[in-house]
Amino acid sequence: MRELIHAILELEEWNSDSICYFCSTLNKAVCQIRTRSKKTDKIIANACACENCKEKFENNQLPKCERCGRLKIQVNFLHGRYVCDCVKNKEDTNEKELPALPHERRPNAFYERQINALQEEKNQLTEEVETHLEALEVSEVWNKRQKQELLDEIKRLKERNKNLEEQLKTQLVAQIETKK
Ligand SMILES: [Zn+2]
Ligand SMILES: [Zn+2]
Repeated sequence: MRELIHAILELEEWNSDSICYFCSTLNKAVCQIRTRSKKTDKIIANACACENCKEKFENNQLPKCERCGRLKIQVNFLHGRYVCDCVKNKEDTNEKELPALPHERRPNAFYERQINALQEEKNQLTEEVETHLEALEVSEVWNKRQKQELLDEIKRLKERNKNLEEQLKTQLVAQIETKK
């Protein structure tokens, strides 16, 4: 299966009144999730997400097509069955794709890659914080010092998460700037 890059982006102007593609709530979209092929930079999906689905995406809870990795969108549910674009377009997901050459790389794709990488790192750190917190809860024999060390570590990870979030925001702004 080809590798995909998903990046949360600010809503583009023509999508400013869109509703969410991922749930059937008719919730107003707050962002776009753009999906590109990692190798070729080609855009293969660009879907609007509501606050709720954005959060789900960040927690890796939005369902993906098992064949191509695209996020599942509502319009592709037909009579309770999911038919992905990869099936509709008869895509060969094993097809060898030629990597984009340096001069073919797009600045937007570059920023989306960074957003994606930061998002992944943030998810990993969040997971670590949660694991530590769980360890704290289940253990009844922690002595004070171990507990303090763990709390310090959690604090450090949270701080790092905050920095990553700032970086994500900066990348988003930079990404928007390049479009102007
Ligand atoms: Zn939604
Ligand atoms: Zn698919």
